Amino acid sequence: MTTTTTSNSALEVRNPSDGQLVGTVSVDDRDAVNRRATQLRLAQRAWAEAGPRQRSKWLRLWRDWILTHSDELTDLLQAETGKVRPDALVETTASCEFITYYADHAEEFLADERVKTAGLLSLPKRLSKTYQPYPLVGLITPWNFPITLFLMDAAPALAAGCAVLAKPSEETPLTCARVIDGWREIGAPPVLAHVTGAGDTGAAVVDAADFVQFTGSTATGRQVALRCAEQLKPVSLELGGKDPAIVLEDADLARAVEGVAWGGLFNAGQVCISVERVYVVAAVYEEFVARLTQRVQSLTQGADAGNDVGAMVTARQVDIADRHVSEAVAAGAKVVAGGKRGAAGNYYTPTVLVDVDHTMSCMTEETFGPTIPVMCVADEEEAIRLANDSTYGLSATVWTRDRARARRVARRLEVGAVNINDVFSNLFAMTLPHSGWKASGMGARLGGADGLHKYCRVRAVTEPRLPVRARELTWYPYSAWRTAIAAKMLRAAAGRGLSQRLGQNKEHRR
Ligand code: NAD
Repeated sequence: MTTTTTSNSALEVRNPSDGQLVGTVSVDDRDAVNRRATQLRLAQRAWAEAGPRQRSKWLRLWRDWILTHSDELTDLLQAETGKVRPDALVETTASCEFITYYADHAEEFLADERVKTAGLLSLPKRLSKTYQPYPLVGLITPWNFPITLFLMDAAPALAAGCAVLAKPSEETPLTCARVIDGWREIGAPPVLAHVTGAGDTGAAVVDAADFVQFTGSTATGRQVALRCAEQLKPVSLELGGKDPAIVLEDADLARAVEGVAWGGLFNAGQVCISVERVYVVAAVYEEFVARLTQRVQSLTQGADAGNDVGAMVTARQVDIADRHVSEAVAAGAKVVAGGKRGAAGNYYTPTVLVDVDHTMSCMTEETFGPTIPVMCVADEEEAIRLANDSTYGLSATVWTRDRARARRVARRLEVGAVNINDVFSNLFAMTLPHSGWKASGMGARLGGADGLHKYCRVRAVTEPRLPVRARELTWYPYSAWRTAIAAKMLRAAAGRGLSQRLGQNKEHRR
């Protein structure tokens, strides 16, 4: 079943759990995107001049609007994504923290910064950095978290003083649009708008923006990066993943089982940092698999209140999960839980696979579905080697009671984040950067002040500390004596490290 039907001028959004029509949106062409971009740019000048304190007031009012409308937004989100209620609620409530954090810190993070001097030539100068927002940020998002992935970048970009043109996924454009309605309803300056459509609309947003924040698949991210490279346009990419979980023999097994089950199946496995593959040390493998199987088999699936696992957003994603399972089974893997499509709607039963290895797509390609393949490994070394054997490098989890060991393992993993004895906890840690290594991304989001500075161009400013004369020693006209003095001073300053080392060597020889 396909959730979204496209025609040249309109997109139908259907409920993934039952195929019912939820809404229709226009397909915005390049002209429509450019018109919207021009309006946003005009309004952005006053927005930037208003300063962080004034902008933060609007951001807080918007957050309050979202929280007041949380029930309505959660209903709409469930309808267009097929999420179960608890999974949808996180989006409409917890995501507001991104707004609160950047509203509370924008003034501090955007203040001019004094910088220490280094080197002789800059010694007589007062050095500072000032931050100037990019006028227009293009914000392109996927369908798995239509509100969270929008807010976690829209909040810092707006707080920085940018205008934001959002392009939500064509599969789930409705809730994001409603959240943007909220910005208008509170009467905020017209610096936030959205366009709807698929790849062509997204490409037009890339061309219209001064900075592109893209979240989506690695394949599309590559196209966006190439386009930005042609235009020398800054871009930040948050892409796909194949996150490993490492369960060591000294893990708290009860917690590891519950964490891996939730980390692999939350949001029907459609989370960029889902647990996508598990490596369990042989000593506890049998017990881990038995307990995980029991937990996963106990979960209920469906759209009704009280269910644990919801639908998948697209029929295409169900096909991918199904292909990964059937390819694995054909190559010798065993299904110990689930492993079937649902009878109706975009459902795939929560699945545990064993006897898997790295020749199988379920262990190497992003599944983005409710499947947990578990592999037995000899020891920690083998687990680390296999965890790093991936083109992706988004995040990982490590399960052990030994904290020092966990940190040691974490340092060896080629990923942008490691959660020890937990899953997803880096996602809402706004003071930490959220970035993917290898094919999982470029740049980062959040990370305290960095998450706001990325939406600004930085300007270096120098000014004389002391009263200045008509000309400096190094200026025109050149003369032999001035050049000789300048050369001596520059040599002395540049070679300071060298002369100190020479001095130390003399000391040693004595
Ligand atoms: P996708 O790449 O198909 O689409 C993402 C967005 O890009 C959509 O809005 C789409 O319309 C737009 N788009 C398509 N072609 C474009 C083009 N040429 N130029 C500009 N925009 C274009 O991804 P998806 O299937 O919607 O989302 C799933 C993927 O997103 C998974 O790979 C998942 O891992 C990834 N993801 C990553 C993160 C992260 O933070 N790293 C978070 C969530 C999802």
